[in-house]
Amino acid sequence: MKFPNYFADCESDYKDAEYVIFGVPYDKTSSFRSGAKKAPYEIRQASWNFETFNFRSDFDITDIKIHDYGDLEVESFDTKTMLEKVYKISKKIIQDKKIPICIGGEHSITPGIIKSFADDIAVLSLDAHMDFRKQYENDKNNHACVVRRINDYIPVENIAILGVRSAEKEEYKEALEQKLFFIDSFEINEKGIDNAIKKTKDYLGDKKIYLTFDIDALDPAFAPGTSTPEPFGMNPFDVLKIIDSIGSNVIGFDIVEVCPTYDNGETALIAAKFLRYIIEKSFLKI
Ligand code: MN
Ligand code: MN
Repeated sequence: MKFPNYFADCESDYKDAEYVIFGVPYDKTSSFRSGAKKAPYEIRQASWNFETFNFRSDFDITDIKIHDYGDLEVESFDTKTMLEKVYKISKKIIQDKKIPICIGGEHSITPGIIKSFADDIAVLSLDAHMDFRKQYENDKNNHACVVRRINDYIPVENIAILGVRSAEKEEYKEALEQKLFFIDSFEINEKGIDNAIKKTKDYLGDKKIYLTFDIDALDPAFAPGTSTPEPFGMNPFDVLKIIDSIGSNVIGFDIVEVCPTYDNGETALIAAKFLRYIIEKSFLKI
């Protein structure tokens, strides 16, 4: 069965939209498994599975004006050119006072969006990986360097990472040295998600939050279709609680690293579901 190639229920035109979704089918720096460029298509297809009504919040997503802009044509570009294209579209969306939502593609996309925010924002990264390398495979824009590149635009004290459980030795040491805030998945498992959320909120204060959701933050049991799966991950209910608690501060977000080549559809589905939840939470502001 083939559904229309836009995110379900996102039928507003650009002019009236409060939220704008764009896809970035890019996976040129993938280090382990490639195929993330197919994710925007598969996540959009998966989005048609769900009811527009969410009984948990007594809310219908069709009450929000959402536009699906389609995909950027970046597949063959180097990271620098790709980032420039991502920057341009998100800058326009933000200037037009709309909320940008990006469907990756791999994680290397995110700094292009962060660059386009003029205000003092915080970034919350949900990720199995620290992504704090200075460079990787001769490219400072590799997906393993995302948090480092985000740090080019916003101070390290405005960045938080949840669910991390993998880093290179040097990268890990530097994160500690620079006091990069992170809570690993082992601590979340031991002390509970409420504790992690409280620590994160105390740390970030009431800042506006850009959420970057690397799907590998979830345990591979829940999200096997990803480029660099890492065991001992978060469960979906924990991530849902994070979104419930910070959603009202979210001023933009992305969902990246879904890799349909290794998916039976469940990873695209959970990405599509979370995308809906995050929109709703940020819209309702509760
Ligand atoms: Mn990542
Ligand atoms: Mn990751």
